[in-house]
Parts: sequence; C-alpha cells; structure tokens
Amino acid sequence: MKITFVGTGNMGCKKRGNSSVLIDDFLIDIGCGTVKQLGKFDIETKSIKYILISHYHSDHFADIGHFFVTRYIRGELNNIIKLIGPIGLKERIKGFFKMTEHGEELLERTEIIELEENIDVNIDGYKIRPLALTHGKIKPVYGYIVEKDNKKIGYTCDTTVCDNFEEICRNVDYLIGDANKITSNANHMGLTDFTEYAKKYKECKFYAIHRGDYEERNEFVNFPEDGDILKI
Ligand SMILES: [Zn+2]
Ligand SMILES: [Zn+2]
Repeated sequence: MKITFVGTGNMGCKKRGNSSVLIDDFLIDIGCGTVKQLGKFDIETKSIKYILISHYHSDHFADIGHFFVTRYIRGELNNIIKLIGPIGLKERIKGFFKMTEHGEELLERTEIIELEENIDVNIDGYKIRPLALTHGKIKPVYGYIVEKDNKKIGYTCDTTVCDNFEEICRNVDYLIGDANKITSNANHMGLTDFTEYAKKYKECKFYAIHRGDYEERNEFVNFPEDGDILKI
C-alpha cells in the first residue's frame, strides 16, 4: 500500500495544504485546495475511486465540488466515485452539486454512503470503522480505522484528547492525526499530547498532520510534508 500525504497543514498554516491523505485509490478528506495539491504531486483525479470525509469543515471537505467539476472537464465521469462520510453527506453533496452547471449529471455518477458511529462497513476490500471524536461542539466528527490487506490505518482529524482517539491508537499499525498546535484545546490535539500517545503505543507509528507552522519536532512522532510517500 502507498500512502501519500497530500495536505498536512491546518487551516491557518501558510506552508502546507489542507488535510488530505491518499491510500492507494482511497482519499481521506478533501480540504480546500486539495485538487491543486493532487496536481502538484502528479496524482490524477481519475485514479481516485473513493473519498472518505471526516467532517464538514471547509479544510476537510470544501474542495469536493471542485473535484467533481474537474472530473467533468477531464471527461472522467465513466468512473463512479464512492463518497463516504458521516450522516448528512447526501444533503450536503446535493447542495454542492446544485451550485454547479453539471450538477445532475455529477450526482448520477456518484454513489453516496453515509456511515453511523461504530458500525463497520466493507467497501471493495476496504473495511472502515467510524468512531466519534471530540472536536469542540461540532458533530458529527469521525475518526476512522481503515483496514486493507491486513494493514490498519487510523485517521483522527479533527479531535482533542478523547476515549475514541485512544481506542483508534490501540487498534492500528499507523496513526495519522491532528497535532494542530503545541498544546491541546477543546477542538484540537496538541503535539504534546499526541507525542504522549506515541510513547504509550510504541507498536503504532504516529504521523502528525493538520499542523500549524510550528517547528517543534521529536523522535517519537513522524512529521510528513506535503507530497511525502509512505509505503507499507
Ligand atoms: Zn474541523
Ligand atoms: Zn481541520
């Protein structure tokens, strides 16, 4: 499996793109500017077959309309995209497509799958477990365990310290998650807490994303830059 860190910055980050991680043909989050980021790293939109959304903040979701219009212009509508996310996805996607000239056609070429907390789904060899995270008062926000070929990858953007964050750490081989600033607040986890979990769950490899422009680094956590590739 090939993991590409498409965007590793938080919303205010000047140096890096918004959150997006590609696992083979499976994109997790599509923050504002992700289509440009994909182009920068020579990743073709037609190579993406699945998009999994964590929550509906613009730095995780807002390039979805642009992604579909780009596919339309490139003549890639023959491939049906599976869009997967928390409850409310269908309504939001319909809203996005209403704003575009080719909305109805785009909607016909899209399969939308809404997930409920703690209910596993199997989609074409990917097993996905959604767990509710704590991101201030925003709901729903899901973290995920994505399993394929006996590899388990955790994705936790956005969240502060909470039981389900630890549940994900406990059950995965790789954890890609929110390390927004140095210290945690009600909405986000800070690098300090993120590092404590990395020390506790030594069998799991931790990758800090959704990072601000801070320069702090340590030996317990990996700090990918946009475009970095991890082969597992
Ligand atoms: Zn958010
Ligand atoms: Zn965010």
